[in-house]
Amino acid sequence: MVQFASPSRSQSPSGASSTGEPRRTKKSKSKDGSSKKKRPSADDQDGDVTKPNGTASARQNAERRSSMSKPARDFRDQPEPAPKKKKRKTLSTSSAPPPEPSTAPTPEEAGETSTRSPSPLIDFDGLSRPSRGTRERLDESPEQKELRMEKMKGAVRTLLECIGEDPDREGLLATPERYAKAMLFFTKGYQQNVRDIVNGAIFQEGHNEMVIVKDIEVFSMCEHHLVPFNGKMHIGYIPSNAVIGISKLPRIAELFARRLQIQERLTKEVAHAIMEVLKPQGVAVVMESSHLCMVMRGVEKTTTSTITSCVLGCFERKEKTRNEFLSLIGVNRR
Ligand SMILES: [Zn+2]
Repeated sequence: MVQFASPSRSQSPSGASSTGEPRRTKKSKSKDGSSKKKRPSADDQDGDVTKPNGTASARQNAERRSSMSKPARDFRDQPEPAPKKKKRKTLSTSSAPPPEPSTAPTPEEAGETSTRSPSPLIDFDGLSRPSRGTRERLDESPEQKELRMEKMKGAVRTLLECIGEDPDREGLLATPERYAKAMLFFTKGYQQNVRDIVNGAIFQEGHNEMVIVKDIEVFSMCEHHLVPFNGKMHIGYIPSNAVIGISKLPRIAELFARRLQIQERLTKEVAHAIMEVLKPQGVAVVMESSHLCMVMRGVEKTTTSTITSCVLGCFERKEKTRNEFLSLIGVNRR
């Protein structure tokens, strides 16, 4: 297998690392209109990837191969890496506080990859992210549903009290219920699974040219602040004879967006899910979005957009293919 480690790769905004991790670059349009993208150093890469780019080696290849069969890489799946100055700087604003102890992986998530589905995304029961609450939510009886709603309403009422409001004033009377319903809608992706959405819409067409759906509107919720982020996602793939119904791509994006997310993981999950259900030659996903947690609070930078990408298969291996995708979606032109 040929390892592509050309220097030009580092100029690509979408140069995902060798493990398929999406890489985040921030673009600020406020300064001089130019859109220079910072090239993150090797230190910026998450977790265990510490080798500088360009060390093409069998070892790297081996790592890549094995990462495909492992559960999705995820902040919660790994011990927190030692804090690095660089990383803080690049990822600071909208990014994660370090993982809380409470979100530490459960024993079954943590160690024994062998007990998990080989798929990083689609669990044995068809739900896309293994989690206790997801199954409960899907299987609940009407009584349990009512109970859940009461619990949520109580929580929202508490919030209203804590911010200094009067939950009993007229305008707020129905707010706890409205908010609870809205929250369940924002997170409805927990109840869906990829296989239901694809629902057999995979067709053997013998088509092997690039397919792109661009400007898919995506609304998601930042898991760190529970406020929305939204933007556009661009999905491309090169079939291996089989194509997927074109409307399924936005629906897969929607499924993963309607959960608590971080943009990096959302990008990666969409790419891996398509890779998995369709088995194409490669998949590329680029997402650009604006995070309310960054715009309305924190650094209050209203013009920043955050771009993440995940390239798999031939998009990862072939720079030409990747560049074709990027120029077709218009990322290279700006
Ligand atoms: Zn946030």
